[in-house]
Amino acid sequence: METHLAGRTALVCGASKGLGLACAQALAAEGVDVVMVARSPALLEESAAGVRALYRVHAHAVAADITTEEGRHCALAACPSPDILITNAGGPPPGHFRDWSRADWIAALDGNMLSAIELIKATVDAMVERRFGRIVNITSSAVKSPIAVLGLSNGARAGLTGFVAGIAREYVQHNVTINNLLPGPFETARFHQTLRGAAVRDKVSYESVLESRTRAHPARRFGQPHEFGAACAFLCSSSSGYITGHNLLIDGGQYPGTL
Ligand code: NAP
Repeated sequence: METHLAGRTALVCGASKGLGLACAQALAAEGVDVVMVARSPALLEESAAGVRALYRVHAHAVAADITTEEGRHCALAACPSPDILITNAGGPPPGHFRDWSRADWIAALDGNMLSAIELIKATVDAMVERRFGRIVNITSSAVKSPIAVLGLSNGARAGLTGFVAGIAREYVQHNVTINNLLPGPFETARFHQTLRGAAVRDKVSYESVLESRTRAHPARRFGQPHEFGAACAFLCSSSSGYITGHNLLIDGGQYPGTL
């Protein structure tokens, strides 16, 4: 499939590793210049260098916390008018709702809802003017199938999902699409950290958690980040202008429902 993305520019958040990096790599493979954002500069620069070396595109690293106004200012200064915007940040910690304070909720909203909305607000008008724009928000399978201990994530991401459902219809007439990608279990640093947390909580070994979850998954394996990146590149392609307001679940069949 021709994506016709060569020469486009993408702002990719949370891009030093995991799913964000996979999106940056998949876009770069299509000839997209990428501005990659994450907080820790060393790994981010290493990842950007890898993208430059492998795909021969411009890959610029911006070390910033995308959940803060200052961080978004830095990212947008480096990439004021992207053709493609991938929003992404770390997920909030697990816990019990009785333990969460207002400050915990505000941090979750900043991370997984408001930062994406602010970035959309800052970039969508120029996309409309150019009559091309692709916005992909990395959310979670928990939007479709909430996970009790991830209440902060369930709530904040559901808020973003509702917001996107409203505005996607407004912008599609300008060839600007806004979609959400919902990862199920993908093998990233965060994923293994979550399994380690579950092992400690259940007083079992990490290996036994990994083995039982693999056995319980319909695919008998977890997703690989490049599989996620490929879906992102597809949604960003020139052919995807009629796909908007969607919540594409990528979970290897883990969600048991028909819709
Ligand atoms: P990951 O491997 O931990 O990577 C997260 C990336 O985001 C890193 O580059 C990290 O770099 C960056 N980041 C985190 N917070 C940031 C911030 N405030 N500002 C800028 N960059 C930030 O995580 P992942 O597995 O790719 O997950 C990506 C998203 O998908 C998360 O929201 C996660 O909750 C969600 N998700 C993942 C899975 C899964 O199985 N992997 C499943 C469901 C949902 P720095 O730490 O240096 O900033």
